[in-house]
Amino acid sequence: LLASKLKDASLATDKALVGGEWVSASDSGKTFEVTNPATGDVIAVLPDLGKAEVTRAIDAADKAQKAWAKKTGKERAGILRKLFDLMVANADDLATILTMEMGKPWPEARGEILYGASYVEWFGEEAKRVYGDTIPGHQADKRIMVIRQPIGVVGAITPWNFPNAMLARKMAPAIAVGCAMVSKPAAQTPLSALALAILAERAGVPAGVFSVLTATDAAMVGKELCTNDKVRKLTFTGSTNVGKILMRQGADQILKLGLELGGNAPFIVFDDADLDAAIEGAMVSKYRNAGQTCVCANRIYVQAGVYDAFAEKLAAKVAALKVGDGFGEGVTTGPLIDDKALSKVSELVADATSKGASVATGGNGSELGGLFFQPTILTGVTSAMRVAREEIFGPVAPLFKFETEEEVIAMANNTEFGLASYFYSKDVSKIFRVAEALEYGIVGINTGLISTEVAPFGGIKQSGLGREGSKYGIDDYTELKYMCLGGV
Ligand code: ADP
Repeated sequence: LLASKLKDASLATDKALVGGEWVSASDSGKTFEVTNPATGDVIAVLPDLGKAEVTRAIDAADKAQKAWAKKTGKERAGILRKLFDLMVANADDLATILTMEMGKPWPEARGEILYGASYVEWFGEEAKRVYGDTIPGHQADKRIMVIRQPIGVVGAITPWNFPNAMLARKMAPAIAVGCAMVSKPAAQTPLSALALAILAERAGVPAGVFSVLTATDAAMVGKELCTNDKVRKLTFTGSTNVGKILMRQGADQILKLGLELGGNAPFIVFDDADLDAAIEGAMVSKYRNAGQTCVCANRIYVQAGVYDAFAEKLAAKVAALKVGDGFGEGVTTGPLIDDKALSKVSELVADATSKGASVATGGNGSELGGLFFQPTILTGVTSAMRVAREEIFGPVAPLFKFETEEEVIAMANNTEFGLASYFYSKDVSKIFRVAEALEYGIVGINTGLISTEVAPFGGIKQSGLGREGSKYGIDDYTELKYMCLGGV
């Protein structure tokens, strides 16, 4: 079903990559199905790997990493450049695989592939610039040097909402600096990760340096990646709850962690904002990927003077969104990932309306049935409602009204999360005041789109640890070594 839609059918595999060997379902015994969330069709049956394969992949990574680290940065850069070129050349097929397993509209999936590829390009370039430092000695006969070395074997656990990009932006820096990676994509969306592994192999990434494990028992894989002492770092993108489990599990071996966890992004529109720009920003920030991103606007705060105008204009735009199968012409909003996501979104809307919110547009499951939900706007939302505290992860925009700058900053910061935030204003002083007061790792000012490989992506508070992308993205995969030379 899937292979027939691809120009290069070999990018759709039913095998997992374990330490340089492609393992089929018949080798592993157990299997699981991957379905298309738009139709419910089974699109692949994959091996459901167990602990033995996880350990095997870690052992192979441990061996392969040492030789990989000995290559020059320029050699590793050449391989990543080839991988980047292959991703771009195969972007249509990679997008088709992505839409099939995850549901987002095909043009958006293609955008994700190019976004994922941009990390491979960026970190390939950075591979040549893993610079150290020299420090004037503290005694006359001493010389001090600082070098950066690859951290070693890295485990990666990635979510379903960006099946290509979330893995690419972990794998690229790890491999660029000379680490090896054992990854486990979400069981809903393993095919994009496997396609990336096929291209990595074609680009010349040596056997064992990059494994992609397919498994439904995420807790088992997570435990092994946290407790096997050959694993020196774990990088995870997913929920804050699972992040906490991983942190606890890694404690006994002081496991280094990179965590990209949940968000509860405020999106603030001040009276002096360019309203049309704010509407545009809210549309991309809220409704992209059917609202299923960790940087999606989760709470939209609109100042009283423009509240009604903003709600009216936004409702007109939202009513024009087209829900459907991601392969459909003009479709802007695909299905949610599964039943659990659908019921959570419905519950949050019901909770808000039961406490006095009004539905400006949408509000229900789509007439298409299945996992489709109508793009929705709620007005008259208050902090007593669950949407004020919980990540919605669906196409629902709750509009809160506020009066003063002080009040909205307090509300915006009143959460345990601290990933992305956004605000719109034309007043230069206010822009600096608000940007500095927001307790978030990322602040979008007069823009709703903040993701790029050239900037550090990551959160504060319970949204995570570490940064992905930019020159800082190298830090998470290297250790500093200080060498003190005496007797000079
Ligand atoms: P989401 O709600 O986005 O699915 P999760 O945090 O549940 O977020 O999932 C993100 C990733 O974490 C997925 O690959 C999932 O399989 C994995 N995962 C879920 N539970 C655990 C766990 N206990 N240990 C390790 N990984 C887990």
